[in-house]
Amino acid sequence: ILMSFMKGNLLTILTVIGVFGGVVVGVIMRNSREEGWTKREIMYVSYVGDIFLQMLKSLILPLIVASIITAIGGLDLSLSGKIGARAIAYYFITTVSAVILGMILVSIIHPGEGDVSSIHKSGTSRNVTTVDTLLDLIRNMFPPNLVQACTAQYQTQLIPPSDTEIIEKNLTLHDWEISHNFTTSSNILGLVVFATVMGITLAKMAEQGKPLLIFFETLGAAMLMITYWVIWVSPIGIFFLVAAKILEMESFEAIVGQLGMYFMTVLVGLFIHGFIVIPVYYTICTRKLPFRFIVNMSQALFTAFGTGSSNATLPISMGCLEERNNIDKRVVRFVMPIGATINMDGTALYEAVAAIFISQVRGMALSLGQLLAISVTATAASIGAAGIPQAGLVTMVMVLDTVGLPPEDVTLIITVDWLLDRFRTMINVLGDSIGAGIVDHLSKDELLKISEREIEMDRVD
Ligand code: ASP
Repeated sequence: ILMSFMKGNLLTILTVIGVFGGVVVGVIMRNSREEGWTKREIMYVSYVGDIFLQMLKSLILPLIVASIITAIGGLDLSLSGKIGARAIAYYFITTVSAVILGMILVSIIHPGEGDVSSIHKSGTSRNVTTVDTLLDLIRNMFPPNLVQACTAQYQTQLIPPSDTEIIEKNLTLHDWEISHNFTTSSNILGLVVFATVMGITLAKMAEQGKPLLIFFETLGAAMLMITYWVIWVSPIGIFFLVAAKILEMESFEAIVGQLGMYFMTVLVGLFIHGFIVIPVYYTICTRKLPFRFIVNMSQALFTAFGTGSSNATLPISMGCLEERNNIDKRVVRFVMPIGATINMDGTALYEAVAAIFISQVRGMALSLGQLLAISVTATAASIGAAGIPQAGLVTMVMVLDTVGLPPEDVTLIITVDWLLDRFRTMINVLGDSIGAGIVDHLSKDELLKISEREIEMDRVD
């Protein structure tokens, strides 16, 4: 029995060994040298991991675009609409549940109370308002140039006047210069919107759209095939990524006192949401127990932990869903790329907890209206966050802004963010995957009808 279990779960076992082995080796190396490791040495350790990350990243864009176009273009539009509506309803309900859970926990545990001396500020951040961030989000949905969207997205930046300018010309915040810079991360949201429109168009064009649809179908299938190969190197890649991160981080000492309590609050919230709340939704909707489903996703969950990026994990989570959980391809290819871009339960929960924690540290009592504002902006911030490491920290500024906290206050939580980021990314990926499982179950009859119709048409041909 043990042998057959090992065989069936070989990859998962190797991945677990990769994560824990990385932690152990990282800690041993770290402790073996008093003076620490140089940047160059850390780069050598993370080298193999970085190559693994690059392999994954190279798959993301073609995979997302091809998957969405074929999934929507290959269904009839009423079914696409139904699947889309079900997915959006799921995203909405689970994100709001995550925010509410976070708010309840942070209010009960109250991590921001008491002595604040253990928290030190470091670094600075850009100064933008909620409106800027929301405008960026919408602006990014309509990229002016698709090729550019593969490599850059808008980000509003306020350029502060220099100190002398402030004194000499008596300037205020209103005199800051606004610029829309392009950042180097790709505009996945824009590409998702474009691919959705393209999918709808091809579905409408029917016969005429077939050649292009077949092209994207082949592209998507090829990308997934490459993914299966890359999956086999993931345990090694994750091992080196984790070991290098442990060598690089400042120290564990930051995770004490209030910051430690904040860390635990987010962690407990993520755990309850990921392993109790959404599995319960899964069981209610599908009448199945969630354990097997979650175990089958473990490869993706560990990759999420190792990379801190839902986008980089996307090829692997799609692979796990199709191969191990037998979720319908059309659902996976439709729901997952969109989910990885806009559905981030872990991030939403963390945004709400962090904003309230910071106001507790600042001794600010929040009114009901402000709490409501936090819940709305935390949801928006999770939609707006890109699926890349620590993107949530950037959109956090908008949540702080709604309750009148200065953007620099994100620096209060920065020291532990890299680790929390990995845990919330796991829950983001789990949330998307369970969503795909639920939507698949709810759409079974319709998908079956479409398949039968296709077989029928092939026979007539
Ligand atoms: N790293 C997260 C993800 O990729 C986003 C975040 O919360 O920073 O899902």
